[in-house]
Amino acid sequence: MAKTVRFSRNAANVFFHILTQCNLRCRHCYINPDQHGTQMLGIQTITDWLTLLSRRSPGANLIFLGGEPTLHPDLPSAVRIARQLGYGSITVDTNGYLFHDILNQLTPAEVDVFSFSLDGASAATNDPIRGAGSFEVCTRGIHEAVAKGFKTSLIYTVSHLNLTELAAVPALLAQLKIDHFFIQVIGLRGRSAGCPDKSSQMQVSHDEWQQSVLPVARQVAAQGIPVTYPKVYLYADEVFECAGRVADNYFIFPNGRVYRCPLCEDHPLHSLDFKQGQLIPMPPINETDLFQLEIPEGCVMNKLIQPGNIVYQPDGTPAFKIACCLLKEALFPS
Ligand code: SF4
Ligand code: SF4
Repeated sequence: MAKTVRFSRNAANVFFHILTQCNLRCRHCYINPDQHGTQMLGIQTITDWLTLLSRRSPGANLIFLGGEPTLHPDLPSAVRIARQLGYGSITVDTNGYLFHDILNQLTPAEVDVFSFSLDGASAATNDPIRGAGSFEVCTRGIHEAVAKGFKTSLIYTVSHLNLTELAAVPALLAQLKIDHFFIQVIGLRGRSAGCPDKSSQMQVSHDEWQQSVLPVARQVAAQGIPVTYPKVYLYADEVFECAGRVADNYFIFPNGRVYRCPLCEDHPLHSLDFKQGQLIPMPPINETDLFQLEIPEGCVMNKLIQPGNIVYQPDGTPAFKIACCLLKEALFPS
């Protein structure tokens, strides 16, 4: 039975991009240096920002991101500082290259999860999306992390480039001994927004989601691995909520911008900004003003930047509401 994971009003999530540099150039990368900056944050700035947020939202879950966060030589220090500041959980999202010998610089007691990204169950599918050789390096990195006792998760971003290969993922997860599987939906942000093949080839439809993605999620849960995936579509009896209004999420970038909604990240719509050691609210108009708008299609930002994934009935009303991109469903092994 799928359980909808509503936004928690009691837990905050801090998604901290400590740099935007990366060794890969994935086709769907959402990092946009024009909007997010190109600097690698120094450890003092990382400490200052983590300290401010730990006071504002004590016990938040923290996710270190990039770019590739393991390219940052001070990531181990940042993890330990976050522990001392009382963050509730610490995750490192990685493409699997695990720079700076990171698995030997940290322990399973210090990092809750290393979260790896693969976009295929084979090099033949993954590598054209994420880069030559990346499947082999990433799977080797997962084996090493598991052997050292780290908890691992795998993120698979579904698009038309890898939809059919999803069926082979359950066997791969078992082989890699993954602890949690996350299915992500392709977003038209960053590099994928500039792709000429964007909505026609990259995004999966409602029917494809139902027929190809959800059965795989059920299969993975049945073999004992929890699965989390975005809700995407809301039916008539389901209530729409915007996480920007009711949840406590922070998407931090090296140029100091702090967004509350990931769909806004390609635009200067951030609601907060780190300036001179303070977290300053931005003047209108920013994403917070958009969160207040109520439309029959559900998510306002989706309607603005991804109108192609809304299906209308003959009378002009939307067939489904589009859920907040932060609303998830989870399947747990019974
Ligand atoms: S998606 Fe991640 S691994 Fe790929 S280029 Fe972007 S930051 Fe790097
Ligand atoms: S994705 Fe849509 S519903 Fe969710 S926070 Fe952003 S604007 Fe709100």
